[in-house]
Amino acid sequence: MSTNNDEFIAAFKTKGYRITKQRLIILDALRNTTTHPNAEEIYNMVKPQIPNISLGTVYRTLGALEELGLLQKLVYGKSFSRYDGNVDVHYHAVCLDCGKVLDVDEPVLNNLEERFSSETGFTIVGHKLEFHGYCKDCSLKEKTNTRRK
Ligand code: ZN
Ligand code: MN
Repeated sequence: MSTNNDEFIAAFKTKGYRITKQRLIILDALRNTTTHPNAEEIYNMVKPQIPNISLGTVYRTLGALEELGLLQKLVYGKSFSRYDGNVDVHYHAVCLDCGKVLDVDEPVLNNLEERFSSETGFTIVGHKLEFHGYCKDCSLKEKTNTRRK
């Protein structure tokens, strides 16, 4: 198991959660991927390590991890929740074709927050920014299809 286990073990204990092997494996899997998997994909990722796990347990575990602030849940309509083990503020780009969610490796716009706050007196506790469009693969696919027509 990888890094910073202490920090989340502490979080578990504070909230009275038991630290189970399943919970650690699921969190570890999430922290080691940048694909923002959905619950079913996470289930398939951890199944080799926890053969008897159910999808229901995966959902419940994700709920607990979210409550503990150990993951970000990205909600894209009813059937499109994805999970991110990176809880630092960062932006995402969502492909409208294949549904892929990419991390946007750009600096967080703190200046914008400060400017808006000082102009309006609005106390900002956070902001979200999301890019919508087509990933590289889907953009290429679209071009090929257009050419064929
Ligand atoms: Zn795509
Ligand atoms: Mn992310």
